[in-house]
Amino acid sequence: MLQSSSSAVRTLPLKKRICFLMKLIFFVSSVLIFCEFLIYYVVIFQCHWPEVKAGAHMGNKEISTSVLKAIILADTHLLGEIKGHWLDKLRREWQMERSFQTALWLLRPDIVFILGDVFDEGKWSSPQAWADDVRRFRKMFRHPVPTELVVIVGNHDIGFHYEMTTYKVKRFEKVFNFTSGKLITRKGINFVIVNSIAMESDGCAICRTSEAELVALSHKLNCSQQKPNHSNKRCSDVEKLPASEPILLQHYPLYRKSDAECSGEDAAPPEEKNIPFKEKYDVLSQEASQKLIWWFHPRLILSGHTHSACEVLHAGKIPEISVPSFSWRNRNNPNFIMGSITPTDFSLRKCFLPYESRVFTIYCAAGALLVILILAHFQLLTPPFYFAQRLISKHKAV
Ligand SMILES: [Zn+2]
Repeated sequence: MLQSSSSAVRTLPLKKRICFLMKLIFFVSSVLIFCEFLIYYVVIFQCHWPEVKAGAHMGNKEISTSVLKAIILADTHLLGEIKGHWLDKLRREWQMERSFQTALWLLRPDIVFILGDVFDEGKWSSPQAWADDVRRFRKMFRHPVPTELVVIVGNHDIGFHYEMTTYKVKRFEKVFNFTSGKLITRKGINFVIVNSIAMESDGCAICRTSEAELVALSHKLNCSQQKPNHSNKRCSDVEKLPASEPILLQHYPLYRKSDAECSGEDAAPPEEKNIPFKEKYDVLSQEASQKLIWWFHPRLILSGHTHSACEVLHAGKIPEISVPSFSWRNRNNPNFIMGSITPTDFSLRKCFLPYESRVFTIYCAAGALLVILILAHFQLLTPPFYFAQRLISKHKAV
């Protein structure tokens, strides 16, 4: 059998062999193009901006306002030079780059927020490693001028509170134009940016500066929300901002006991859900969480850090959305949030990226098919009917 097959290989005309090779190259490149490029379009094309009422009531008048289209993602964890294996880096960074670029192209957001842990090793990287990480980040998350990119600091970018230094905070601020307590106002919507690692309330220099900025901003925002005829001496000299309740953007979630109440396919796995969260490590302390709610009375809080999704209601009325990780390294089913936001209303929807397991399954199926095609071509695969026919003829001869 083997002898006859090898002679078949030898006798195949050159033209036929080239033709077969071309077919194989076409097959392999089609699978590669689909899994590494087209699949992102197929999957993200199914995402649509959620509807939101664009009108706002002011007294008895309805004022039409334009809708801000925002994408919110978290925990990209670009691997560093110490813990990052080159293949892991290549694969996961390509996945995030394609996801981000495809989402920009298909969805055309006005603004994108990344809720911290942009890098995996920012907390200890050398100046050279930091520069290389920043260069790769800029390439992956490049964006056209009309789309704004806002990056919030996470513990992997500057370290947990005990390892956070002014040098690391400044280096992050310089690259991303980030400051805690910064207000970003777009289309009358107020976004408050928080360095949640500096919410330790232990009187450290970074914490004191950050808290002072937040208190000053909360004063401005609260004064701006007062009715024009409401005279408050403390607000007389304060710069007026749009009178819209703010949206808080931060890395650590506000305090919650655990992820036990979280649901959905992108929530934490059952074995992790009931593990109690540690304050100032997994979530903000109860004190810091209360402060942020008192200062800002936010209408929405968006956070990252847990790598899994969750929806929590604070004080019975303030929703917080924990945004899962954007990277395959942290979950099989990464996603991002699409928000249609006006000064008075918002509507959010999840957009899932391709599942890593599905891409892997396509590669395995394509690999198996490729082996079958090669074996069949060289007649190394006996078709069942051919095998049965030979058995029958042998039987007859006996
Ligand atoms: Zn984190």
